[in-house]
Amino acid sequence: MDATQGLLNWKIGNVTVTRVVETGTEMPAMLFGGSTPQDLQAMGDWLHPFLTENGNPNLSFHTFAVQLGDLRILVDTCNGNDKERSPMFEAFANLSTPYLSLLEEIGFAREDVDFVVCTHLHFDHVGWNTMLVEGEWVPTFPNARYVFVQEELEHWASLPDMPLHGDAFVDSVQPVLDAGLVDLVGHDHQVCEGLSLHWSPGHSPGHVCVRIESGGELAFITGDAFHHPVQIGRPDLAMTMFDTDSAKAVTTRDRLLGDWADADILILGTHFATPTAGHIHKSDDQDSGKFFFA
Ligand SMILES: [Zn+2]
Repeated sequence: MDATQGLLNWKIGNVTVTRVVETGTEMPAMLFGGSTPQDLQAMGDWLHPFLTENGNPNLSFHTFAVQLGDLRILVDTCNGNDKERSPMFEAFANLSTPYLSLLEEIGFAREDVDFVVCTHLHFDHVGWNTMLVEGEWVPTFPNARYVFVQEELEHWASLPDMPLHGDAFVDSVQPVLDAGLVDLVGHDHQVCEGLSLHWSPGHSPGHVCVRIESGGELAFITGDAFHHPVQIGRPDLAMTMFDTDSAKAVTTRDRLLGDWADADILILGTHFATPTAGHIHKSDDQDSGKFFFA
């Protein structure tokens, strides 16, 4: 977990983005298109900060806390505390992390959050939407508007028995809907001046990246369009078990890489371990991947 710990922050013009880490985990390399640890280690030194000593992908679960003028915006809310999850995902069940204290330390007290933006509605992006109070799931951020893409909400609402994401819908999505705190929006919605959604379907139907622009500078938050930097080198290495449509996810990654490579665009990875942010570059050495991240 060392590689994921600590607050980091970045400036995009006048906007400050702070990474607040909830937890981290090692994933088997084989989940990325059947890769071996050796395959990943061979892709080059640029990838090594994001691999464990064993050569497996290291994943961080963090929120990006965005201070934009007077507005405080959270992008994705990790897993949450006290959530019951299926045995296969027990690493994310019944957590008890100091996430809310970390947010408060950087000036994001629960009551002061203006927007909660979820890139998609998977369990590890909606968890802190709610918290357990006297046996009830209540909205964690009572004064926030929760921004969900309508198409994404309709998709998961139509699959109530889906293991894992169905549980998360019940404990982390439905309560904020019931409280009237949700804005259902299109997938290119502008949340406020300087922060908008950018459709990136495949991992889920209404999945969005988040675009931040200020003072002539530009950044994108990936969401799960990229689970790990390995997918920058090899966009075809899909995490099929978690994607709604892996072929579409690959097409989306190809498009985003074309748009983002060798441009002055800061890329903030939603599950990227430290250093978490960087730039995408076209690779001269195609053996080590089409693109690299540094
Ligand atoms: Zn995720």
